[in-house]
Amino acid sequence: SLVGEGEELRGAELMTMSREQLAVQRARRSFQTGRTRPLHFRIQQLRRLQNFIKERQKDIKDALQRDLGKSERASELYEILVVEAELHLSITRLAEWAAPRPVEKNLFTLSDEVYVKPEPLGVVLIIGPWNYPWSLTLLPLVGAIAAGNAAILKPSEISSNSSKVIEELLPLYLDKDLYQVVEGGVPEAQELLKQRFDHIFYTGSTAVGKLVMEAAARHLTPVTLELGGKSPCFIDKNCDVGIACRRITWAKLINCGQTCIAPDFILCEPSVLNRVVEEIKKCIKEFYADSTKTSDDYGRIINQRQFKRIMGLMEGCTIAFGGDADEARGYIGPTVLKNVTGESKVMQEEIFGPLLPIITVNGVDEAIQFINEREKPLVLYVFSHDNKLIKKVIAETSSGALVANDCVVHFLDSALPFGGVGHSGMGRYRGRHTFDQLSNLRSCMIKQLRMEGLNSMRYPPHTAKKLSW
Ligand code: NAD
Repeated sequence: SLVGEGEELRGAELMTMSREQLAVQRARRSFQTGRTRPLHFRIQQLRRLQNFIKERQKDIKDALQRDLGKSERASELYEILVVEAELHLSITRLAEWAAPRPVEKNLFTLSDEVYVKPEPLGVVLIIGPWNYPWSLTLLPLVGAIAAGNAAILKPSEISSNSSKVIEELLPLYLDKDLYQVVEGGVPEAQELLKQRFDHIFYTGSTAVGKLVMEAAARHLTPVTLELGGKSPCFIDKNCDVGIACRRITWAKLINCGQTCIAPDFILCEPSVLNRVVEEIKKCIKEFYADSTKTSDDYGRIINQRQFKRIMGLMEGCTIAFGGDADEARGYIGPTVLKNVTGESKVMQEEIFGPLLPIITVNGVDEAIQFINEREKPLVLYVFSHDNKLIKKVIAETSSGALVANDCVVHFLDSALPFGGVGHSGMGRYRGRHTFDQLSNLRSCMIKQLRMEGLNSMRYPPHTAKKLSW
């Protein structure tokens, strides 16, 4: 039943409410009981989430295998471990995060208590994507629980096996009234977005991000938008190209390129182009025993629609190598593209697949110009031995994150706030940053009803005598 214990709604009223409306109402009423306020309650729920992941690992891995052809190892590495680490961090640090945060005092507040007290916001809506259907749905949930909120989860219908397991099994572990899963597609997401929330945490495409923000505006609901875009990767000629290509190839091909922080395209000078192509080829041979088609470590494209879209992006480019595909199996081999320009089709949208275009530029200044002429990316990658060049790129560009001499790994460091800027998103999360994002950082000032004489200056009449005092 969608109606919790002690629910006062009458039958007739219930009949006219949508499933989504009921879920939100039930979550809000439960939140209003105040039971998420004590930290021990939040920790108990986080521990239950830990148990869920431990006990249901097989269900999670099976669903990921069916949705995206993810191997057990890939599921552990990119979907499970990161959530387990976040849970551990949140449980051990919650008391510290939730404690009042004293602020600097000044002459007027010397004898006062002045601090910031994080408090729960209320009901948070979490809308998840299909590419990492577990980690990118559960990481915000960890923060929502830690911050003392109720939450409604809407996993992506496109990763349907994961969505089903989340809906069936998660409620067996968590408080059923406070944390609810609404399974469904666009109509269900739209119905949810009509409801009033205290925060919406959305991960997905920029296009839908705009719709989410529009819907949120109607209720003045704050949003976190974790969106996508084209993350550039500049390889300086003063660089160990072999190592750079190992790291780039690994990052690009995780989840068959369906990763929001995958390096989208490479910028390099013409003098290193052939070397880059050869090194990437070598890495693929090494990582996948020369056959991505049969390797368990190489994933699949989520569905036919995405398959067709990705294949269409190769139009007008020269295939340096790769280009093989098998539609029935959702397989697209790692593909490097040459003779690409800013106007090529593959440069007009986020690739989100295993294609890696290389664009040649004459040095770092041209690379910076190319980057700055486009939307601010989620991540900017730069490979170089020259620290000054790296600092120059940092100083002259903007992006949600910048990683030098590696790819993707910044997501694993929860000390770094993760998120985008401009069209790649807004808001930050991971670890304490999720806790802060999903809390009201309430300013508290507690004064004494003493020493009233000191206040005489602020009360009218503002006579010259008072002001000269
Ligand atoms: P998507 O926007 O199509 O779908 C995400 C969610 O939005 C799903 O739950 C879906 O049901 C819902 N949705 C879809 N259409 C909707 C509509 N019209 N109204 C309301 N809700 C709707 O995104 P996707 O295809 O699942 O994910 C791919 C995109 O997400 C890529 O651009 C990728 O870069 C981005 N992404 C970003 C991050 C990040 O952390 N910044 C992480 C993963 C994916």
